[in-house]
Amino acid sequence: MTAPHNRVESALLRRINERRLLEVIQQQGPSSRASLTRSSGLTAPTVSKVVEALLQRGLVEEVEPLGQTLGRPGRLVQMAAMSAVILGVVIDASTCCVVAAGLDGRVEEARTRRFVTPLTYKELLNSIELHCRALLQDADRTVHAIGVSVPGLVNERLKEIVFSPNLHLLDKRNPAVDLEQRIGAKCLLLQETSGLCLSERLYGDAKGLRDFAMLDVSTGLGLAVMCGGQLLSGHGGMAGEVGHITADPTGIRCGCGNRGCLETLATDSALLRRMSERFGQPLALEEAASQLAAHPEKFQPDVECVSEYLAIAMAAVINIFNPTTLFVHGTLLVAAEDRFALVLERVRQRTLTASLADCTIVPTRLSKRQGAIAGIMHHLTNTWAPPFR
Ligand SMILES: [Zn+2]
Repeated sequence: MTAPHNRVESALLRRINERRLLEVIQQQGPSSRASLTRSSGLTAPTVSKVVEALLQRGLVEEVEPLGQTLGRPGRLVQMAAMSAVILGVVIDASTCCVVAAGLDGRVEEARTRRFVTPLTYKELLNSIELHCRALLQDADRTVHAIGVSVPGLVNERLKEIVFSPNLHLLDKRNPAVDLEQRIGAKCLLLQETSGLCLSERLYGDAKGLRDFAMLDVSTGLGLAVMCGGQLLSGHGGMAGEVGHITADPTGIRCGCGNRGCLETLATDSALLRRMSERFGQPLALEEAASQLAAHPEKFQPDVECVSEYLAIAMAAVINIFNPTTLFVHGTLLVAAEDRFALVLERVRQRTLTASLADCTIVPTRLSKRQGAIAGIMHHLTNTWAPPFR
């Protein structure tokens, strides 16, 4: 008879193997069992057993290999793209979106629905539910899980957004819990910058990196740091609020209640506010981008001022966390090559030389909706078992 502790050990080992194989399939795409055996370091019989278990859990699916080959090649195993669906919900200050994807994490415009952020929490939940149900009807499949990406401070112990400086209707709320009650599928709450960080590691340029940082400078100024392969969370999951460091004690009022926080000075929102004042009327982000392209000299003082503060924020992250790569997510100063070059020039002036020499700075190409999807995949693998090594 097997001793109880041996049964526990073998159950844990099985889960670790399942996680290992999932990671390999995620990284290399459709794979034969032979290739999975080579890449995973597991034995062929273990790979067969683990693939069967993953097939049964609906996490992977089998597909025919492309092209004509002699003989009968084995079917390939891939993340369940056709047979499973997950939803990503992105709640943001001005626009929200809901996206449907397979477990391969591929995010497409055709499966994305956007809407203006409603004024009340109830209307927000109604809109999210409506769009989720519409996407699920189109997909005609059972949903695996829903990832809900939110701005603000997510307290993991209290299981709620304790404070959202740029979207106060989320204060003391947990839209994931409320959505789970409405839709009946597992919903996960995810801080938006943490989502971006996870998506860069799963789908972007941070694959295999253990120490990197993600700075989001779009609406607020958010930071997530991957430290030794783990997301830095702090005591309650609220670490990384670099945006609320005071940079100008007499500056304008921030959404948090203080004055002159870095996020009122170093973000797309900060540049948008300055440009709107100069322009004489409120500008939307897309209008501001075209204005900057058409009349760069007119807004040069605004670009220079915001670039200076953005450089201070980036230098602080590099000096404090010593990341191998700093990813930056933003539009007006980050996605435009010439303006980002100006920012980088200032980062060089503001950062300790040795820390900067250790770090590559890269604008991220991934979106918050990809982040919401990555959050689910992280949950599916991470809560299942500890890493293989
Ligand atoms: Zn603040």
